[in-house]
Amino acid sequence: MNVLITGGAGYIGSHTSLEFLQAGYNVTVIDNLCNSKQESLIRVQEICGKDITFYQNDLLDSAALDKIFKQNSFDAVIHFAGLKAVGESVEKPLLYYNNNLTGTLNLLECMQRHNVKKIVFSSSATVYGNPLKVPITEELSTQPTNPYGRTKLMIEDILKDLYISDPDWDIALLRYFNPIGAHHSGKIGEDPNGIPNNLLPYIAQVAVGKLPHLNIFGNDYPTIDGTGVRDYIHVVDLAKGHLKALEKLLTSPGVVTYNLGTGKGYSVIEIIEAFQQASGIEIPYKFTHRRAGDAAEIYADPTLANTDLKWTAQKDVLTMCKDTWNWQSHNPQGY
Ligand code: NAD
Ligand code: UDP
Repeated sequence: MNVLITGGAGYIGSHTSLEFLQAGYNVTVIDNLCNSKQESLIRVQEICGKDITFYQNDLLDSAALDKIFKQNSFDAVIHFAGLKAVGESVEKPLLYYNNNLTGTLNLLECMQRHNVKKIVFSSSATVYGNPLKVPITEELSTQPTNPYGRTKLMIEDILKDLYISDPDWDIALLRYFNPIGAHHSGKIGEDPNGIPNNLLPYIAQVAVGKLPHLNIFGNDYPTIDGTGVRDYIHVVDLAKGHLKALEKLLTSPGVVTYNLGTGKGYSVIEIIEAFQQASGIEIPYKFTHRRAGDAAEIYADPTLANTDLKWTAQKDVLTMCKDTWNWQSHNPQGY
């Protein structure tokens, strides 16, 4: 079976490409490398001894997409390609709407032209905005609070409309919680450009001495220790969720929406403690003001994915931190 993985050179895409190769799929990747390096795919191939067909192309380039679809015969698409930085999306909304929406529309039009009608889409827990309650179930209202989150919700709606127009489509909308960690080999991992926005890459760069200390955004939230609580999920568990989602589309078609999380929340302080235990390195930190738009507590109810997909996140927070540290300490400058 031939899968096309858009954004496959990125953090989650590279781990997912590996899982698909190891499960026996043929993998083709399209990525414009705007937030990744081809080295990630070279390492994926090294780990599993299998080849990936790689196209360095932009989803905004419809003609190039069409050519790729003509040259290949895809059975399904796993769609990761997109821009993902919340703060940047507030500063540059048009860039985000254009890249994420136009890129997706081009992809869907191309899929339709070539009669490829199975897609697994990377959505995000950010579609829930500041949730009215936790744990979050899939039916909870969606109220994204920034342009990035709105692109995710708009794409979900576009895909649902597409299904209404043509029930031959099979669509999985996967709402990820907070992916962290790295493949246990330490060969692939998260390699952000510049100063990281997210907690784990920031902690990892403090641990290798690239940044002096962590700023904790707020210690007055109504949580266990006043710091923000999130549902961290190992990226390899998340990658396996995509395999299960595609299997689901192959056996019982339709449109499905799943939360991919562990169902457990950890505070920033708890994560620092776990990372210190995993690495043996002390992480200096300072409390600073809350970050605009942050919610106090976000964690999934993953019951639907657990039962429907027969998928449950396996790896605990200590393993997530150990694997992050293994990747970062062996690749202090990234790829
Ligand atoms: P990433 O930036 O590492 O990967 C995205 C990849 O898409 C990159 O390799 C980038 O070069 C590529 N890309 C972007 N725009 C493109 C375009 N127009 N044409 C071709 N390639 C393009 O990000 P990630 O963390 O691996 O996230 C993958 C997906 O999951 C994204 O859609 C993201 O929004 C979503 N997601 C991520 C998180 C997270 O915390 N990492 C959480 C929820 C959802
Ligand atoms: N956070 C922090 N300092 C940082 C980055 C993040 O205190 O440098 C906190 C943030 O306020 C949130 C948690 O860590 O409570 C996870 O943040 P991240 O940006 O990784 O994920 P998101 O907020 O998108 O869930």
